[in-house]
Amino acid sequence: MSGLRVLVTAGGTREPIDPVRFIGNRSSGKQGHALAEEAHERGAKVTLVTTTERLVSAGIDVVGVETAAEMEKAVLDQGGSADVIIMAAAVADFRPQAVAPEKLKKAEGVPRLVLEPTPDILTSLAAVKPQGQTLVGFAAETNGLHANARQKLVKKSLDLVVANDVSSSGVGFEHDTNEVVIITASGIKKDVALADKRAVASAILDAVLFHRSQP
Ligand code: C5P
Repeated sequence: MSGLRVLVTAGGTREPIDPVRFIGNRSSGKQGHALAEEAHERGAKVTLVTTTERLVSAGIDVVGVETAAEMEKAVLDQGGSADVIIMAAAVADFRPQAVAPEKLKKAEGVPRLVLEPTPDILTSLAAVKPQGQTLVGFAAETNGLHANARQKLVKKSLDLVVANDVSSSGVGFEHDTNEVVIITASGIKKDVALADKRAVASAILDAVLFHRSQP
């Protein structure tokens, strides 16, 4: 992948409620980090936008972020020159509308949290996508895997979607293994059997390269 610029996002965003509390999710960042490492080993110039503190190989540019808004800014800043963008991060869909400036006190009773939608980063990326860029999204589903993933591919104008059924054992959040199906905009479907996340990363990059080789 020498000569290719690859941007990967990893981890779950944290949306603050007050200075000490946040709304988060179970994403460990393992699949995103495995993608960044695999692309780096294959010679790509890799930027990793991550919410986690995982160790990263020298030579990978790391941008640490916490919230969906920070991730969107980092990705839009870095994304213009990328040949491949892989949104492996679990971005919160909702965040508190207002962040309390001080820690909410238990004695003051149960707080009423009003939520608002976060920006959809993939949709923002698709709107400014340069010619020749490959946009890859993830779809974590608990039912209707293929239909929901295909819908996401079309709705978010993706080139590839990597779908996993997070309700089956050994798959998705926090695990060291994953089992995915890769669906491309041209209708190709590839099942990747349960394997460690680095092997899954390798299969995803193979699919990206195959997609890019097609006229
Ligand atoms: O719609 P859903 O959240 O299931 O889509 C998952 C895909 O969309 C992932 O690739 C995720 O990184 C991306 N996403 C995004 N911005 C959001 C929410 C999800 O780019 N606000």
